Amino acid sequence: MKDNERSSISRSKFLRASAIGAVGVGLALNSCSRTTDESNSGPAVNTGKKFRWNMVTTWPPNLPVLAEGLKMFAQWVDNMSAGQLKIKVYGGGELIPALEAFDAVSSGTAEIGSGASYYWAGKAAATQFFASIPFGLNAQQMNAWLYCGGGIELWEEVYAPFNVIPMPGGNTGVQMGGWFNRKINSIHDLKGLKMRIPGLGGKVLVRAGGTAVLSAGSEIYTNLERGVIDATEWIGPYHDYLMGFHQIADYYYYPGWHEPGTTLEIFVNKHKFEQLPKHLQVIVKTAAARLNIWMLSEFEAQNAEYLQKIRNEADVEVLSFPDDVIAELRTISKEVIDELVEGDAMSRKVYESLSSFQKKIGGWAAVSEKKFYSAL
Ligand code: CA
Repeated sequence: MKDNERSSISRSKFLRASAIGAVGVGLALNSCSRTTDESNSGPAVNTGKKFRWNMVTTWPPNLPVLAEGLKMFAQWVDNMSAGQLKIKVYGGGELIPALEAFDAVSSGTAEIGSGASYYWAGKAAATQFFASIPFGLNAQQMNAWLYCGGGIELWEEVYAPFNVIPMPGGNTGVQMGGWFNRKINSIHDLKGLKMRIPGLGGKVLVRAGGTAVLSAGSEIYTNLERGVIDATEWIGPYHDYLMGFHQIADYYYYPGWHEPGTTLEIFVNKHKFEQLPKHLQVIVKTAAARLNIWMLSEFEAQNAEYLQKIRNEADVEVLSFPDDVIAELRTISKEVIDELVEGDAMSRKVYESLSSFQKKIGGWAAVSEKKFYSAL
């Protein structure tokens, strides 16, 4: 059989299969789950019972996008369920301290929570991979891995011992590299640099000779202003502008190599979730998916606006890290992550999935997004 005959036959088979809806069966491996809503074990019958949930979050009560989105999420759930499921949202510190949100949901003290999974690295190291890792996936690729590359299933596995079900619930997009009061011309300029940078990014900085300082959000401005720290990262132009960093720092560096697409999360107590009738479970998942796209969209739109404001209003140089600094940081990041996964079987399992997905999608991105952006 000639090649063109073979391809014409397989094409007609594909089209026939598509027409009868059977194509999904053949593509099931490593593709989007199409049965998630049916796999939950909630009661199928809607008795009309009303549910009142409390949500605890890691975000300050009025933080734009993050806290704001959660209030919208609660409203969407209320609207979709015609008031059958009402969620009261508490900002960090209002009901419990911000970083106790996961424990509160795990124990059932609160039914639902929100944060970023790398906050829980102390409970299980593998949680970090579902937020963002240095030189990891961008927002679009995180969604592709989580929804359609087996990521959510692994995330559920990591959270299962805590009696918690995770759902993607937002993404910051690529963050900025941070605010500096000294210029970074080579990797040696990171030596002795005191920077507020949490998580794996902080470990990378330490290995490059710097000091990673942990400061609560409320203390960063004063610490930078007084020279307690030489640099800080935060999120992106929108939130960074609201923090006022452009008033006290000389340089604003990009890209946020340490957080290329941080996924935010909704997490639910498993037992409480299973008490919901199926239609309410679907409503919670659907609202989380809407929140996921809304947050990323809002971050992108506002970051574009506020980068322009920073450029126009502030005496700040917006600079790219030099290529060789990026390359060095990438090498160090690989070492830090390799060491992490060496000591933890679950981290290794998750990282193997993520890194093999990254290799594949990197090949696709090179001929799609990357090429397209370079043509603009
Ligand atoms: Ca950050």
